Amino acid sequence: MSQKFDVIVIGAGPGGYVAAIRAAQLGLKTACIEKYQGKEGKTALGGTCLNVGCIPSKALLDSSYKFHEAHESFNVHGISTGEVKMDVATMIARKDQIVKNLTGGVAALLKANGVTVFEGHGKLLAGKQVEVTGLDGDKQTLAADNVILASGSKPVDIPPAPVDQQVILDSTGALDIQSVPARLGVIGAGVIGLELGSVWARLGSDVTVIEAMDKFLPAADEQIAKEAFKVLTKQGLKIRLGARVTGSKVDGNQVTVNFTDADGEQNLTFDKLIVAVGRRPVTTDLLATDSGVDLDERGFIFVDDYCATSVPGVFAIGDVVRGAMLAHKASEEGVMVAERIAGHKAQMNYDLIPSVIYTHPEIAWVGKSEQALKAEGVELNIGTFPFAASGRAMAANDTTGLVKVIADAKTDRVLGVHVIGPSAAELVQQGAIGMEFGTSAEDLGMMVFSHPTLSEALHEAALAVNGHAIHVANRKKR
Ligand code: FAD
Ligand code: AMP
Repeated sequence: MSQKFDVIVIGAGPGGYVAAIRAAQLGLKTACIEKYQGKEGKTALGGTCLNVGCIPSKALLDSSYKFHEAHESFNVHGISTGEVKMDVATMIARKDQIVKNLTGGVAALLKANGVTVFEGHGKLLAGKQVEVTGLDGDKQTLAADNVILASGSKPVDIPPAPVDQQVILDSTGALDIQSVPARLGVIGAGVIGLELGSVWARLGSDVTVIEAMDKFLPAADEQIAKEAFKVLTKQGLKIRLGARVTGSKVDGNQVTVNFTDADGEQNLTFDKLIVAVGRRPVTTDLLATDSGVDLDERGFIFVDDYCATSVPGVFAIGDVVRGAMLAHKASEEGVMVAERIAGHKAQMNYDLIPSVIYTHPEIAWVGKSEQALKAEGVELNIGTFPFAASGRAMAANDTTGLVKVIADAKTDRVLGVHVIGPSAAELVQQGAIGMEFGTSAEDLGMMVFSHPTLSEALHEAALAVNGHAIHVANRKKR
């Protein structure tokens, strides 16, 4: 007799482990299957996010930013130091320790909530049975009333730049570079490329980002994207837009990359090359041929708005389904699905998933961009506030960027908050909270904000929507 569960989750990333915890909290007998082996050769929970994604990249971004500040701007505060040095091995080891703490924490949370963890590869069979192949190759079959597929994603490979994890790295390899490469190439000016490129640029690499598209950060608001391009370029990132990589040749410890741009065929030589051209869903050996679960035309598991697949009782969440490949999107889908399985009427607001790029300054937004709203024919009132006019930003010597609040001109409802600047991720979240409750720009403007805070920039931008900003000249006169 196979073991029977109310819910089996395949994958313990931020989608899967959160779904498993929520299901167990709701009284459902829950199992979670994970196959990933961490650096120490043991099963590590937490998925891409904790092991090779969000957290390790932020650890390196924070370390490298501290180095950069010590090197470049402590003197502004009157602080002088001896020579500022970076021990890359220590930086990487600190990152590894954070990963270890967090993945261990997930294991403890699953245990505390009574989730049974199976170490191995999970595969959905017909009739909501799940085959688990243990690390020793032994197979067992489990049964469930509900299955949640949360197998996540992995980096896209491109034939012109095959990853060898020595000279040509994917995002995982790029989190483990052991010394600062003098010349670093990055293919792809997406979130991951810009974040990882920034880490090594701050530590002294000469970084060139090669991006096929002509437009920089096409998903962002154009005004913010333009500012981001200016700021990142000033920081030393050489961003080559409209440049498509066509080939590469590794020669010893360096690689020559061929690409074409408006001027024709080009090539550049680097000591390391990071390929960051996107991620693709993981469905390899996940579904038996008779599982009944359909994929969409792009290879994602096909789901409806509630993450239900084509098989009743089988759900899929996170990077393996349509939508933004973001940890917080995966987790909220996990909660929604667990709650729906438990009979609750849970849903999720896909219109208000914040996006963040953790460069410095950070770039973040929630809701729609000015150009997207204009394309829909919505009449807009827009307020902006530059951090250069923020007392808190000046005190912190961190005045680059702006807050932009976009509201419907007829109803004053806030439709988008876009920020480039210090703590942009946190400021945008404030906008998201307001927008979830249908805030108007006037509502935000009437609220009392602590002084001096960076949040005041959001307040002032909201006031500026209707021409009422106090600490900047209003474009719109009222
Ligand atoms: P994953 O985290 O990919 O987890 C899936 C898990 O399932 C994996 O552990 C895998 O081993 C396991 N698995 C797969 N198939 C099977 C199987 N058949 N049997 C058993 N186990 C299986 N997102 C953000 O929101 N913010 C960020 O700052 C951010 N930074 C990132 C930085 C980098 C460098 C990268 C690469 C990604 C980043 N992301 C970020 C994206 C984020 O990591 C993903 O969106 C998120 O991890 C998706 O969660 P998931 O649970 O769907 O899948
Ligand atoms: P993202 O999907 O946000 O991680 O971004 C990946 C980026 O890589 C996209 O902006 C793509 O346009 C870019 N890209 C994909 N293939 C190539 C290529 N061959 N050369 C240069 N850029 C590429």
